[in-house]
Amino acid sequence: MATEPAPARLPRSPAEAKALAKDFFQAFTHAPRAMRLAWHTAPRLLAGMLVWTLLAGALPSTIAWVGRGLVDAVVAAQRGGDPQSAVRWVALEFALVLLLLVAQRWQLLCQSLLRAQLGHAVHVRIFEKALTLSLPKFEDSNTYDLLTRARREAATRPLGLIIKLLNVLQNTVSLLGFSALLMALSPWAVLALVVAGLPAFLAEARFSGEAFRLFRYRAPETRMQLYMETLMAREDSAKEVKVYQFGPRLLDRYQKIYQQVYEEDRALTWRRHRWGLILAILATLVLYTAFAWLALQTAAGALTLGAMTAGLLAFKQGQTAFGALLQAIGGLYEDNLYISTLFELLDLPPDPEPGTATSGLDPQAGLRFERVSFTYPGAAEPALTNIDLDLRPGQTLALVGANGSGKTTLIKLLARLYQPTSGRILLDGRDLQEWQPAALRLRIGVIFQDFLRYQFIAGENVGVGDDRHFDDEARWKEAAGEAAAHETLAGLPQGYQTQLGKWFDGGRELSGGQWQRVALARALMRKDAQILVLDEPTSAMDAAAEVEIFDRLQDHAGGRMSILISHRFSTVRRADFIAVLDGGRVTEAGSHAELLAAHGTYARLFEQQAEGYR
Ligand code: ADP
Repeated sequence: MATEPAPARLPRSPAEAKALAKDFFQAFTHAPRAMRLAWHTAPRLLAGMLVWTLLAGALPSTIAWVGRGLVDAVVAAQRGGDPQSAVRWVALEFALVLLLLVAQRWQLLCQSLLRAQLGHAVHVRIFEKALTLSLPKFEDSNTYDLLTRARREAATRPLGLIIKLLNVLQNTVSLLGFSALLMALSPWAVLALVVAGLPAFLAEARFSGEAFRLFRYRAPETRMQLYMETLMAREDSAKEVKVYQFGPRLLDRYQKIYQQVYEEDRALTWRRHRWGLILAILATLVLYTAFAWLALQTAAGALTLGAMTAGLLAFKQGQTAFGALLQAIGGLYEDNLYISTLFELLDLPPDPEPGTATSGLDPQAGLRFERVSFTYPGAAEPALTNIDLDLRPGQTLALVGANGSGKTTLIKLLARLYQPTSGRILLDGRDLQEWQPAALRLRIGVIFQDFLRYQFIAGENVGVGDDRHFDDEARWKEAAGEAAAHETLAGLPQGYQTQLGKWFDGGRELSGGQWQRVALARALMRKDAQILVLDEPTSAMDAAAEVEIFDRLQDHAGGRMSILISHRFSTVRRADFIAVLDGGRVTEAGSHAELLAAHGTYARLFEQQAEGYR
């Protein structure tokens, strides 16, 4: 964790700028994909939006054209024409305006519904992706940043992009209508319309690109901020934050990140709006020059009063439509950039998990590590070196070693969360890599040291251990019984139906040792698991409880192999086979009696601990 947040960087070198220019053009390619996404999610809504958008685009210029007819009819009536004709024009305009109102309402309605549906659909896709990521990917900060960024923007950007595409369509249709009206007056009028709007667009595109780069380079800061929010506002960190009185410092750091982010935002917002104002003044100048020209032409009798009215309206609304069109394109560009983050995440290649075997070659072969070495991605030193281990069905292996000696890493390799850098691990005579991942995982029950305390009901906290029996109350009880957790859980106010944790109403909190029993029960849900792995499963229990649990486990073991990590020699000594790890290597191995006789590290540590009890 950095002490002070690093400043966000804008690209400086030409190579970086070139890469971003490439981004710019690539970004526009995401629109069809966003459309497909919306089409798959809600085809009828999207089709509805399209129809209403076309109507809303075509109506304004039609209304302006009707206005021209109305004014000319009134002028004609003043000169003795039929006043009924003017009334008919009014009625027509009224009908069209009503239709426009309805179209605009429906557009908004469809948008609201699509917002909800699309936001949800995108989140589902993100989580589907997250569930397929391998552990190494999850632990990689680049992937994690991508995930954070995508989640932050996921709900809004695809909809934003679609709305803007429809805006482009609507305003293009409007503009064509207004241009047709203006064309009848003078081609120069159309040109003035375009010239006034273009600079605003260029400025918009430029600034939205800059905003996106800031957002992108800032991901680590944003993630740190999110993390601090979690620390300050979540129950599971409140205890420690309070005791160490760490809160004010956290808040201070949080503020500093904000301050830095705000400074950058402020600078950009300033420039954006300064240019916005200058260009808007310019556009208004062009507009009123054109008005003056229209007024002079009409005064000289070259245009009818109706033509002038329609011209003014076409100019004013045309300019608005043009501005909206350019803004939509600018926004489209921006949404495209942000959406690229989402698609980048969704396009991460799935991590191949090869292997098809669902059974071993020899059920009696047990578990075997053959010269297994492993280095974490990006780490300089190997976490494990040349590990050789052999475990037969029914046997218990205990791993002993100081913190950081590689015990948990060994378990992660066994669970196939990571792949050995060299050497191989065999279960029933077959390399783990040949096993079908799902079949393999069903054979292994693991309790990690940092197991999860789910804010679900008690029974489900046990049930997650075997998805096939997630809701099976009889199995919960059986597993809890074996883990000596049944009495605790049955004694809760609603028994196994009691909500655990503090996040939700009526939740009951368990003690550390009670949670460990629940975790043990979770691992024991896999009745047919061949291997049970216990990473310090009883560290929060008293010594008597630990002995009781291990006796129970041994009674129920059958052919099941157990791997146990513990710092308590009272438990370790009961294992059939003990391996001492030091710096990622097995330095001693054998039974308790053998290791004592060898007078090595094990014997020394055992004596030290025994000393403490005398
Ligand atoms: P133990 O369980 O014996 O306390 P571990 O297996 O957790 O030890 O750690 C062994 C070594 O691997 C340590 O040096 C630790 O820093 C390193 N390590 C553990 N987890 C990771 C990880 N996810 N990424 C990189 N290095 C790790």
